[in-house]
Amino acid sequence: MLRVAVIDLDHCQPTKCGTPCITFCPPVRNKIEAIKMGENGFPIINEELCIGCGICVAKCPFEAIAIVNLPSELGGDLIHQYGVNSFRLYRLPYAEPGTVTGLLGRNGIGKSTALSILAGQLKPNLGKLEDGQGWEEVAKRFRGTLIQDYFKRMSAGMLRVTYKPQNITQIPRAVKGRVREILTRIAGSKPINDVVERLELEHLLDREVSALSGGELQRLAIAAAILRGGDCYIFDEPSSFLDVRQRVRAASAIRSLVGEGARVFVADHDLSFLDYVSDTIFIFYGEPGVYGIVSGPYSLSEGVNTYLEGYAPLENVRFRRYEIAFSSHSPPAPDSAGGPSIYWYRMAKTYGSFRLVVEEGSAKMGEVVGIVGPNGIGKSTFIKLLAGLESDDSGNRIEYRSLSYKPQHPEPRDETVADALRRAAGKDFDTELYRSELLRPLGLDRLLDRNMMDLSGGELQRVAIAETLSKEAAIYLLDEPSAFLDVEERYVVARLLKRLAREKGAYIFLVEHDLMLVDFSATRLMVFTGKPGIEGRALPPMSMREGFNRFLSELGITFRRDKKSNRPRVNKPDSRLDRAQKEMGEYYYVEAG
Ligand code: SF4
Ligand code: SF4
Repeated sequence: MLRVAVIDLDHCQPTKCGTPCITFCPPVRNKIEAIKMGENGFPIINEELCIGCGICVAKCPFEAIAIVNLPSELGGDLIHQYGVNSFRLYRLPYAEPGTVTGLLGRNGIGKSTALSILAGQLKPNLGKLEDGQGWEEVAKRFRGTLIQDYFKRMSAGMLRVTYKPQNITQIPRAVKGRVREILTRIAGSKPINDVVERLELEHLLDREVSALSGGELQRLAIAAAILRGGDCYIFDEPSSFLDVRQRVRAASAIRSLVGEGARVFVADHDLSFLDYVSDTIFIFYGEPGVYGIVSGPYSLSEGVNTYLEGYAPLENVRFRRYEIAFSSHSPPAPDSAGGPSIYWYRMAKTYGSFRLVVEEGSAKMGEVVGIVGPNGIGKSTFIKLLAGLESDDSGNRIEYRSLSYKPQHPEPRDETVADALRRAAGKDFDTELYRSELLRPLGLDRLLDRNMMDLSGGELQRVAIAETLSKEAAIYLLDEPSAFLDVEERYVVARLLKRLAREKGAYIFLVEHDLMLVDFSATRLMVFTGKPGIEGRALPPMSMREGFNRFLSELGITFRRDKKSNRPRVNKPDSRLDRAQKEMGEYYYVEAG
């Protein structure tokens, strides 16, 4: 057995705990230093001497220690270890020239580490913490594999890698100027028109990068990567902040790179996006923050289905206790006789040159209304009108008595996560059910002592979702909860929304671009149409089938169903299925055939 001991220094607080991890360690009691205090003031576990009893894990009041036993064969596959008792990554994915490799896995499981290595930004230490490894030595480790050739070329300067990083919100700090200047500078002598058109950047060419929204920055970053060119392209979470139409266009722009014989890596949490863009899938599994193992390669269809099943047949490993399942049928409309509906009147809201008109509508008790439409069409404005945060153009303001609202961009407050959630959940906060159903699945049990001001964007998003869903309310408004969440976390959110609606008879409104989350949770759809940034029209809620047909027909996109898992898959434009479904007028709910 290979022992992996990880101490999370962000959670470890030796001055507050009395170091029970050391005091109660059985080997230490027998004068064997399996764990001792290090010079940096934090404990160090000697993995050779540790017997893996787990007592330190149980005794640590801050859940700072993880001890896992892995098959000893994995030892030779260690690619990178960040330090003593730190996260480690086993194995690497690869991409053959002229193909797109998709990477699927939880947050904190090593995808970005693998991509940094493949980009040449992080030199893998193969677990040797003291010795500096050269790229030649790294290449030798992969003798006889495609990765050896990759690293050999990289070390010889014969492989140009272009990397689109995950965090695009930092771009305005690093790059100044207008979009046109930036792209022209990167493209050199190459024309930029084709890429600009593919990513719908025409109207942004004269805009300063500092004035771009998240979705605009993402498209700029993808365009810049494509124009920079290379033998290998790496895209880390390219679908974030994009709406459905933009995702499909970005996927097809990325896909076009294989025609030039490039190797392309894409890591993303939107399964439809990954499904559309990839040829091959590698799955990352393990324990977030502790270790990650790269499995595969799998063919596209097999890889996504394997991920949904939570069982990797090549490795004979179950990496998730439950399966993520889809239905090919639209859900039955909620029973309107089950309780009162809530209503909103026809309203208009103008911001500068943008005008939103909301048609009169209603939501039934116990239903989840999915809200879909392009970016800049007024979805968040509608949510703010419902929340009573804005009045309409006539000065009227909706005042529902009891509602809970998660804004698109949650703001941190100067308090701990525990204080924020305790206030929201009341006495439920201390129950085991609250821990098992909300805190643990969203990974919040380990954040409770942290101040909200110190959280990352993804952590803040999870806290904001939990806070919103913890409050006692009749109406829940969630604006883009999937941002920064991985597939599992999105599934957890979907289950929670459904349960809130079913058990508490809540009215839930969900603005979302990830159609998988909408598919899992919603019972009816509200479709927003119009011209982004100019005029928007919010249609009343309609059945899922009608809503998806309305929404997707405007985008010209159809979905088929996977034969095995029933998951929705985007049809290639103008393929036989695409044409047949458009003729039938069925854009989303078709039986797997
Ligand atoms: S690991 Fe836990 S028990 Fe050990 S010093 Fe850190 S906080 Fe204390
Ligand atoms: S797992 Fe057991 S042996 Fe290992 S450090 Fe913890 S208490 Fe000591």
